[in-house]
Amino acid sequence: MIKKTLFLIWLITLPHSFSSAQEELPAINVVYPKDGQTLTSSDSAFIFGWVTPRSSLVINGLDVEVYPNGAFLAFLGIQPGEFIFELADSNEKGVAVDSVRVSVPNYSSTISEDSLAIEKTGMLPDVDMNLRAGDIIQFRFKGTPGGKATFSIEGLVFNLPMTQSIFQNEKYWGREVFGDKDSTNQIQSSGVYTGAYQIKPEDKLENAKVIFQLSRELKDSLKLAPLAEVDKVSNTVSLKTFASGRITVTQDLIPQIIEFTDSVQIVRTGPGLGYLLLFQPKGIRAIANGQIGEWVRIKLAPSQEGWVKLGSIKLLPPGTSIPRSKINLIRTENRPDRVSVIIPLSQRLPFKIEQDSSEILLSIFGGISNTDWVKYNPEDELINQISWSQLQESVYQLNIKLNQKQQWGYDAHYDGTDLVLDINKKPKIEKDLDGLKIAIDAGHSPEDGAVGPTGLTEKEVNLHLAYRLKYLLEEHGAEVVLTRGGMEAVELYDRPKRATEAGSHILISIHNNALPDGVNPFINNGVSTYYYHPQSLPLARSIQKELVKRLDIPDYGTYYASFVLTRPTQLLCVLVECAFIMYPQQEMMLRDDKFKQEVVEGIYRGIKKFCREF
Ligand SMILES: [Zn+2]
Repeated sequence: MIKKTLFLIWLITLPHSFSSAQEELPAINVVYPKDGQTLTSSDSAFIFGWVTPRSSLVINGLDVEVYPNGAFLAFLGIQPGEFIFELADSNEKGVAVDSVRVSVPNYSSTISEDSLAIEKTGMLPDVDMNLRAGDIIQFRFKGTPGGKATFSIEGLVFNLPMTQSIFQNEKYWGREVFGDKDSTNQIQSSGVYTGAYQIKPEDKLENAKVIFQLSRELKDSLKLAPLAEVDKVSNTVSLKTFASGRITVTQDLIPQIIEFTDSVQIVRTGPGLGYLLLFQPKGIRAIANGQIGEWVRIKLAPSQEGWVKLGSIKLLPPGTSIPRSKINLIRTENRPDRVSVIIPLSQRLPFKIEQDSSEILLSIFGGISNTDWVKYNPEDELINQISWSQLQESVYQLNIKLNQKQQWGYDAHYDGTDLVLDINKKPKIEKDLDGLKIAIDAGHSPEDGAVGPTGLTEKEVNLHLAYRLKYLLEEHGAEVVLTRGGMEAVELYDRPKRATEAGSHILISIHNNALPDGVNPFINNGVSTYYYHPQSLPLARSIQKELVKRLDIPDYGTYYASFVLTRPTQLLCVLVECAFIMYPQQEMMLRDDKFKQEVVEGIYRGIKKFCREF
């Protein structure tokens, strides 16, 4: 229920001022959510902004704390559909009211039982597919619960059974990652029918349609879709519909070879899913053996598949030699700041790199061992030992053991068809941070990033912190580059590029946090750090520890997180979310010079302790 409050609207907004000693007329400014916004949570949401200091605020009938600077934050129950936050702010001079209208998704809708209907959205297959023998196709649609459902594949199978299941959506990531698990909502809906079919070697299909049929007993009270067919003999009524995706089944007599055409290719674990292989250079070849929508499946090894975007590859003509290469020898080259491990191949092949503290595993897909030689450079003191293994039919793996318990970045690239892995040596740090090159990235701009209740933007506070950190690190001898020097726009992907091109050893990206919809900000806030590659974890932990020691806010933890600013391999990357800008007390702290100095002092100490230990 929404409690309607009837007040005279004396004033809606008023210029914002913290310093006025006189009591001002009440005013309301909601920063989040915006009027008309669609939220992603369905049971609770936060709302924040600012009102006149020392006034009393009520939202949807509940008293909400107003901080000394006028900021407010509330975490309130909401209901699916259109939802209205009604705000009333009052003091001795009067009352102001405002409302914010949002739409709240309904994750658990069920089609009415006295109908016969099939929903147009959420069907599988939803895109065209091109598959092979052995692949399993999943079918799904949502309709009136309690019916009998079947699927047919045009020209192949007719009316195979489907089962009605309680469909459980994936848990909401926002609460799983950032919230307390107790409040995780289980999203369920009934009337979801599922089926499956495994493609047989003899199956052949060209753009075949998938037909779903849902039937139930005929009753007078039923609301029937216009195309429903009534069968008076069996006293049933049924409804048919086509899935939007069509099915092609190909038998690959000639393997389809593809080549990566993007400057940097990412190979994923499924269509649109997570990263399997990072930063694959142009010109790498692989065998394609399927397609779902715009995603092409590549076969890396007998038991390893990956997915790439159709627009990022080219198809090579039949007869192209298959992506395989014998690996005869390995050699290393010593350079002042790094050691290069060189693996000559006959063509560019996909590869994967895994790290442990003093070990690198390099897998080459399509590599076949004929390795009789490993030539160690006599001047190289970094590499302890290189050994190889043939993990499976076409997966060659190098195990590179280092004489360094901490890694300082690596870069894998092709020089012609030689695969080159550059492994960085520890920089020579003379005293304090002398000799260390550090890139500082002030998060965001041109976009604001997160915004606090009184309108403080992340892009401005991140820049203040970046400059403070720069001066402090320079005082201690480090060489510093900023990826952004002012309020100018800097493309997200240009930031790590600027850091690596400057030859930095460490990249610190500075941010301030906000929560996703539906997570309670009163119990989830504080300082946190983020890393991606194992090599950056000890630095992230060291910085987190020093920040927690200095800042009087909760320890929100260290996270593995796949961000553009944490993914580069050439240097150690840590992203710091200093405080929660959406949380009134922490937004106030971020306006305070003493707090900002403690933040950069913590980051500096974290870097310094890390360098001393490793
Ligand atoms: Zn940010």
